[in-house]
Amino acid sequence: MKIPKFKNEAYTDWSKSANRKKQEEALRKLEAQAGKEYPNIIGGERVFSTSKFNSVNPSAPSQTMGIFQRGNPEDALRALDVALSTFEKWRHVPYAKRAQYLFRAARIMRKRRFELNAAMILEVGKNWMEADGDTAEAIDFLEFYGREMLRYGSAKPAVQLPGEKDELEYIPLGVGIVIPPWNFPLAILSGMTTAAIVTGNTVVLKPSSDSPLIGFKFMEVMEEAGVPAGVINYVAGPGGAVGDTLVRHPKTRFVSFTGSKEVGIHIYQEAAKVQPGQIWLKRVVAEMGGKDAIIVDNEAALEEAAAGVVVSAFGFQGQKCSACSRAIVDERVYERFLELVKARVESITVGPTKILNNYLGPVINKGSMEKIQQYIDKGLREGGKLVAGGKPAMTDGYFLQPTVIADVDPKATIAQEEIFGPVLAVIKARGFDEAIEIANNTEFGLTGAVYSKNRSKIEKAKKEFHCGNLYLNRKCTGAMVGAHPFGGFNMSGTDSKAGGQDYLLLFLQAKSIATKVK
Ligand code: NDP
Repeated sequence: MKIPKFKNEAYTDWSKSANRKKQEEALRKLEAQAGKEYPNIIGGERVFSTSKFNSVNPSAPSQTMGIFQRGNPEDALRALDVALSTFEKWRHVPYAKRAQYLFRAARIMRKRRFELNAAMILEVGKNWMEADGDTAEAIDFLEFYGREMLRYGSAKPAVQLPGEKDELEYIPLGVGIVIPPWNFPLAILSGMTTAAIVTGNTVVLKPSSDSPLIGFKFMEVMEEAGVPAGVINYVAGPGGAVGDTLVRHPKTRFVSFTGSKEVGIHIYQEAAKVQPGQIWLKRVVAEMGGKDAIIVDNEAALEEAAAGVVVSAFGFQGQKCSACSRAIVDERVYERFLELVKARVESITVGPTKILNNYLGPVINKGSMEKIQQYIDKGLREGGKLVAGGKPAMTDGYFLQPTVIADVDPKATIAQEEIFGPVLAVIKARGFDEAIEIANNTEFGLTGAVYSKNRSKIEKAKKEFHCGNLYLNRKCTGAMVGAHPFGGFNMSGTDSKAGGQDYLLLFLQAKSIATKVK
């Protein structure tokens, strides 16, 4: 069967009332299932634990979206055993067949799109556009990695020596542990998991404790697509107990992690320790945080720059690893830029995201809300000037006002640490060179953007702005699978470039076979 060329999935058009009705219906249906209990899935079997935890709607925390099993180390070990035995069969499944499972899963996600969107709107507080974008990206990963597997599987990269048949075959690694974050609970989880299995590995998937429902729905999709039991084993539960057990296990061959710098470093260190009986060095792909900056030059289209900064800073409440948390602005346009940003921020609608018109939803949980508020207070204590927001936004739910703090010192805490919330620090620069220096002065290096009409400054940014994903005269969020392979430098991670042509190699090892021919 001829596979059409990869094309990014289109977004749902919310101006059409038929689409709005379908989304509302899906939201109603999922709300009617609030409080339902969901099992872990090990080897296709539904597994229940004595201990449970709730996943709640951050827009209305009294609404429990689901009750989940608090997996323990025994569950983790059982899942790992199943993944190990399944690997012996799965690795022999022809690569083209494995790719077909992903294409089938993409079709199922399209069919269940409104249901998947609803899960993200209600479980993590994405607005409709963000939730739909997340589902579209998940579909993109399935379609892209399926095609990539066909490319790697049929590749003939070895030079032929006379008198030999020389081959290079890409083979899987073994059992992997997949640990995704909650902020792209479908897209990143789907991308990490399916890249691992399409290459012939089996996995234990530990979803974030803030988004287990979406992880469970992914499992349903993969089961419906016919992926054999035991290829993906789903164990919800705390990072400490379940995650550590899996990462440390001597039979774990690789860990694929996306999340915070702190947890990433911990996993990297734990995985590096060779355990008794372990016969390999574990491979770790760790994608971590950011302190992403947008530089606004004095020669920028200022209205466009303000719009780009506001969307990048406040889309999904600033809870994207790619979110703009620093605007570095040339002093000659600084005051005017602040006025433009303030006007835009003050027009942002805040509220429960099940209502289409609410742009800014809640942050993920109470702990996060408190931490963000502490950062805001610290930013002001360290000399920042409040331009907008700064306070909780509603009485129920984890809502914060979109917050802009100006005159921030480039070395202040809120200019250096990842806040992961709707807070923008604005920093004044004395020119383009200083702006680049400030942009590069954190330990991170994930995304960045520059607004300027000056060609030589743009060229300089291409060379000097040290980040994994650089955007010029556009926002710094919204990486598209295929076009913008995603991953950062320095403490932002291992620069794995998810959604790019190098990504599947991280889950493969190459075997060279040379046969003497007469
Ligand atoms: P966390 O680091 O808190 O958690 C990520 C995952 O790690 C969760 O599934 C968590 O489980 C698990 N975990 C926690 N402790 C351990 C442990 N000891 N061993 C194994 N696993 C563990 O990150 P968040 O989920 O809060 O996600 C936000 C972060 O992710 C931000 O820093 C953001 O920048 C980053 N991110 C990076 C991206 C990139 O591509 N570079 C993309 C998206 C997000 P549990 O929930 O049970 O604690």
